[in-house]
Amino acid sequence: MEAGFKCRNCGKCCSAFYAQINLTIGDLIRISDFLEKPVSYILKNFVGINPFGDPANPTKFSYELGINMPCLLRKNEKCSVYDARPLNCRLFPYWVLIQEFIFNKKEMIDASYKCMNNLELKKGNLKRYSDYSKLVGDILIQEASLTDNILYRLKIKHSTDLSKNKDYQKLIAKYKNKKTSNNLKQLETEKIKLAKKIFGKLKDSDIKVIEDEAKKPFLLKIVENNTKRLTEAEDILI
Ligand code: SF4
Ligand code: SF4
Repeated sequence: MEAGFKCRNCGKCCSAFYAQINLTIGDLIRISDFLEKPVSYILKNFVGINPFGDPANPTKFSYELGINMPCLLRKNEKCSVYDARPLNCRLFPYWVLIQEFIFNKKEMIDASYKCMNNLELKKGNLKRYSDYSKLVGDILIQEASLTDNILYRLKIKHSTDLSKNKDYQKLIAKYKNKKTSNNLKQLETEKIKLAKKIFGKLKDSDIKVIEDEAKKPFLLKIVENNTKRLTEAEDILI
């Protein structure tokens, strides 16, 4: 048994289609600075307009900027942009552990993620994980709102309902009597792939707008401040 979270380097959280990772404009700027490449390079090579499922409605998906899975920033079995990794990557698995250990939501634990196996947490760790998640979560809320403003303008941020889609109906029929947890994950993966195919890829014109936005001084100032706050957040985990 472990007294704290430890990554077992299974790569699952960086590759599972059914666990999509969305991105903020701040994430794009931090990764771009870290790799010393333009934001357009990050968008073209690692990012898509990705569908995120709605837990309350299995046919509904909302589209946002997200990392294309499996994440190609994972190289030689580790994150090649670890110090600049996206906010959602930073939050995993701390938010899951809080749900499990504070709110007793056992269903949040997926044992196929190696770090979740036989995990037991000391109270002190839970407090640190909560403080860390709160700080990173606050930054995420602020940056997500700035990102949404850009994505709404580009008509990227929107929702869709696949209940009437013929391919979606075929998919549901295919899995009708398959209810194991692996089947459900496979179904979720196929649903995400279908929803992604329907909306298509980022256009060059969208990439240009996002890149121009990412150069605006007021945004750079906010992101610079948040990047400092993230260093403070990482110190909580040491
Ligand atoms: S799922 Fe857990 S063990 Fe596997 S790479 Fe991610 S954090 Fe590490
Ligand atoms: S950015 Fe890093 S931590 Fe996040 S999914 Fe990619 S490799 Fe994993």
